[in-house]
Amino acid sequence: KRQYLVAGNWKMNGSLEANRTLVAGIAAGLEACAQVEVLVCPAAVHIGQVRELIGSTRIRLGGQNLADQEKAGAFTGETHGAMLKELGCSYVLVGHSERRALYGETDAIVAAKFKVAQALGLVPVLCLGETLEERDGNRTEAVLGRQLGAVIDAAGVAAFGAKAVIAYEPVWAIGTGRTATAAQAQAAHAFLRGQLANRDATITGSTRILYGGSVKPDNALELFAGADVDGGLIGGASLKSSDFLAICAGA
Ligand code: 13P
Repeated sequence: KRQYLVAGNWKMNGSLEANRTLVAGIAAGLEACAQVEVLVCPAAVHIGQVRELIGSTRIRLGGQNLADQEKAGAFTGETHGAMLKELGCSYVLVGHSERRALYGETDAIVAAKFKVAQALGLVPVLCLGETLEERDGNRTEAVLGRQLGAVIDAAGVAAFGAKAVIAYEPVWAIGTGRTATAAQAQAAHAFLRGQLANRDATITGSTRILYGGSVKPDNALELFAGADVDGGLIGGASLKSSDFLAICAGA
């Protein structure tokens, strides 16, 4: 199987002091998950500090968002992907459901950000997932197909493979304590991998697909067991090093 990736999305949380405690706690427990790639995604203003805290440990660093612009310039309040890269980020989240729902990011904007991330040497973690209404209306596959298809159409299927990560995050499972069952997660992941395989069967085996949405120490093992589940994107539980490490150990 592909190498597991467990990523902490700290969202708009953290402080200089909290970050010190969190990174020290993660660094101290890395041996227990030696096979797992461990990634943290702090708030943009904390990335420089967290890079220092990570030091020479193998914790990887990522951004939560980037501008849809390939060139720097007059875009007040935005973060250029090259700035993330220069501060040591290797990954960046793209199209998180909170960005889509609260900040108006359309499939087209998400696709543009995905392309810019790759152009600037970052690995995009493309987040997608259906709402409860869409799931209840039997539209899960249509929605996932549309969200992934928009990026495949814009960037080409060859942009996937090992140069991109997909994160399946059902909106109804994010921050709700309501997790997809392992079977629901595996089914969605298999569908997404199939969408890639339909276009190019040769790259699909190397694309990692993470599950996100109320992953906790007590459900990580089961969720990560799915054949097409290659790790997790963790919100709330990534803010406590013991929980985050326990989840990493489940991968
Ligand atoms: P929770 O783990 O808090 O449900 O958040 C999931 C998420 O949105 C990660 O990006």
